[in-house]
Amino acid sequence: MNVLVLNCGSSSLKFQVIESDLDLIERDADRTLASGVIERIGSEALITVRAPGAPVLKRAEPLRDHRAALEYAIGLFRSGDVRIEEASSIADVHAIGHRIVHGGEKLTKSIIIDSSVVEQIEDCIELAPLHNPANLKGIAAAKAIFGDSVPHVAVFDTAFHATMPATSFLYALPYQLYVRHRVRRYGFHGTSHRYVAYRYRQLTGKSREETNIVTVHLGNGCSICAIRGGESLDTSMGMTPVEGLVMGTRSGDLDASILPFLHHKEGMQVDELDGMLNKRSGLLGISGLTNDMRDLLEEERANQDRRAGLAVDIFCQRVRKYIGAYLAIMNGADALVFTGGIGENSDEIRRRICADMGFLGISLDEKLNSATVGRLEGEVSGSGCRVRIFVIPTNEELLIARDTVRCVRDAPRRW
Ligand code: AMP
Repeated sequence: MNVLVLNCGSSSLKFQVIESDLDLIERDADRTLASGVIERIGSEALITVRAPGAPVLKRAEPLRDHRAALEYAIGLFRSGDVRIEEASSIADVHAIGHRIVHGGEKLTKSIIIDSSVVEQIEDCIELAPLHNPANLKGIAAAKAIFGDSVPHVAVFDTAFHATMPATSFLYALPYQLYVRHRVRRYGFHGTSHRYVAYRYRQLTGKSREETNIVTVHLGNGCSICAIRGGESLDTSMGMTPVEGLVMGTRSGDLDASILPFLHHKEGMQVDELDGMLNKRSGLLGISGLTNDMRDLLEEERANQDRRAGLAVDIFCQRVRKYIGAYLAIMNGADALVFTGGIGENSDEIRRRICADMGFLGISLDEKLNSATVGRLEGEVSGSGCRVRIFVIPTNEELLIARDTVRCVRDAPRRW
């Protein structure tokens, strides 16, 4: 079946068409037929579509909302502007998988979307005010175009972390706040951590129960996950994605009392403080230059920019602290797995994170490390190191497509 995977942001829509079914999953032979991104929805939108063997299509079109954007994307396949032999018409989309950021405490598994699921995703808007409304726009757009003639499946970023015990998910705040408002840690990037754990099992022949690893997702957003017995034991993002590691524009961990301090000192109001934590902190905040790791490394190398170097050092030190903390709560792990734009591509950041960790049994093979970039997958451990080190490119879309196939198989209704 052809699964359309949708990932909607507030003004963007990313999509992939993936051919998958139970047999293809079994043989690990599912294929991406096309992928694309539509940015700046609401004004002159930028459209980029890729399909294997075809030149990249780039266009600019005024697209007023997510529905218009999705209709435009589907129109490209219908009209033959983007040629996919196996999915040349709209009728060839057999199911739709939606990436949903927050499922709260109730939506802890991928699920066929009906009106009650939509309501529950709406109930989580207060937990993810930037993300869930955009995800809901994607569901509304796809339902308006495809109706209920194809199944729609929701796959949640938070779901993988539903196994976290209370010792990991509770904040040391008055317990009533958890009871009244569900103030707790949920974790994000779950689909990515789950995918790389699955690939790790494939690469090493381990069972799920034998999977004791620390997965390190370093992209524009960053999080790290302690996976014990195949399940998320703890992760660095919390009630929102701000907690944990230093990110492109998010601060990660900080002393919460800084916020009232800034309120008193600078008169900053709640929305400003939130904007600062999410959009003006992290690598961008420290360097004052950019949130882009590639550019920071270049500034540091070419111009010896002090603050660029400081931003990178603080970024790496935070990751190192979390690796140490997770190895402690897991009583050791068999492997570290790096993924995400930085984790997959920057041998230098991996080197700086893993430097001088011999005490913990962590060391990189310099040659393997430098050779494993550009979406290559492989082991980069030094000889004799106790904690093996892998680079595994993430593929959240593939997992969403596969969950969609499995949910459709298990559904009582047939489409
Ligand atoms: P993502 O959010 O996973 O797409 O990752 C985006 C981040 O990956 C940005 O900070 C990029 O600068 C970073 N990145 C991509 N390629 C490289 C590279 N070769 N070296 C360092 N950082 C990179």
